[in-house]
Amino acid sequence: MNFTADEIRAALKNGELCAYYQPQYDAVTSLMKSAEALVRWIKPDGTVISPFFFIPTAEESDLIMEIDWYVTECVCKTLEKQNMMPQFPISVNFSRRHIRETNFAEKLSDIIDSYDLPHPLFEVEITESAMVAEQEKILSWINSIRSAGFSVAIDDFGSGLSSLQFVKDVPADVLKLDKSLFSQNCENEKERIVLESIFNFAHRLHMKTVAEGVETKEQLAFLRSCDCNRIQGYLMGKPMPEEEYLSLCQLHRAVEEPLDILQLQSPASAINLLLDVIFRRYPLVIFTNLTRNTFYMMAYQNFTTTSCPSTGIFDELIEHGTNSMHPDDREAFASTFNRQNLIEARKSGKQEIRLVTRQLGDDGIYRRIETTDYFVDSNYTNDIIAITLCDNLPDD
Ligand code: C2E
Ligand code: CA
Ligand code: CA
Repeated sequence: MNFTADEIRAALKNGELCAYYQPQYDAVTSLMKSAEALVRWIKPDGTVISPFFFIPTAEESDLIMEIDWYVTECVCKTLEKQNMMPQFPISVNFSRRHIRETNFAEKLSDIIDSYDLPHPLFEVEITESAMVAEQEKILSWINSIRSAGFSVAIDDFGSGLSSLQFVKDVPADVLKLDKSLFSQNCENEKERIVLESIFNFAHRLHMKTVAEGVETKEQLAFLRSCDCNRIQGYLMGKPMPEEEYLSLCQLHRAVEEPLDILQLQSPASAINLLLDVIFRRYPLVIFTNLTRNTFYMMAYQNFTTTSCPSTGIFDELIEHGTNSMHPDDREAFASTFNRQNLIEARKSGKQEIRLVTRQLGDDGIYRRIETTDYFVDSNYTNDIIAITLCDNLPDD
């Protein structure tokens, strides 16, 4: 079933082409986040023709560019209908022929502006294989699109020959991982290693990731563990006509965003959890600015003694600590944690200072404690900072 360019052109003119939408879901919350527009040819008798049967012919000439711009208009009309509900971003496929189209970004802006739509709602997809040739042109093409406020996705990543080396230089927002990468339910060890590296690579370059062609729960489970951002595939939803897609948008509008799960993903929240673990592990954690001779307790619970001041002058803290040590350990404690000695140790390249001493507990019994000062660098100051972790050691 192959069509001539003239037949396709006629179908375009007769309004027989339209956009179907395939939803993309958040990998963690399973909430719909966005969609991809995929062209379909609906024959007058209702038969739906897949792009597989007419895109390759259209790609042989500039006809493909007309189709892509037509789909862009369809997407604008759909986004316009979402005006009263959350407007989910939609991505559109653009043939590599557009790379040589002068003023592509201006043309796109004019269309989107004529519908009064925010630019970030629109994403341009360009296939990985287009990256192989004309690298200079690609870079300036992508830059111009992003400068106009649109997002850019590299499509079919992993299906072709483009090197990681080049993709690292492409200023794209989104990396779409081709379905061929998840062929064996992600059960194969080597396949998993490759995928994990790709996700790691994308995230470190601050690119969002979309896994395409996800068909099984096993694939989904693995992708979640890789920190994949969005999922697109038959498991979650097939490409569907506009009307059906709009109902889905309505449905997802009603779903409350489980903010706690989303916040859990952020590095800031992860750091708080890490702190919880450290506070659970160490009964006493002290923040000290050695240069300024100040300290405060970050955590202080279930320690041998509860008499330490919670904030104040570091020299006084050490004096207080020294007096609470076993007489035989006092000298070692005082000289090890003497502020000048700590500063000298830091300057001579020491990363940490550790000492075990016996400290008098509130119950009048000496117990062994381990005190470790870790020197840390702050982006905000050149002052010498130490984090102290104190631990109760088991009795001899
Ligand atoms: P694509 O951009 O890689 O789009 C994804 C294709 O994967 C779509 O095929 C989609 O239906 C299919 N797919 C999605 N989930 C699954 C899954 O779980 N399993 C499997 N086996 N397939 C899945 P579709 O709609 O037939 O489109 C085929 C290709 O035609 C697209 O591949 C794209 O390269 C091209 N195309 C579609 N619409 C346009 C357009 O408007 N402009 C241009 N230039 N190309 C288009
Ligand atoms: Ca695509
Ligand atoms: Ca693709």
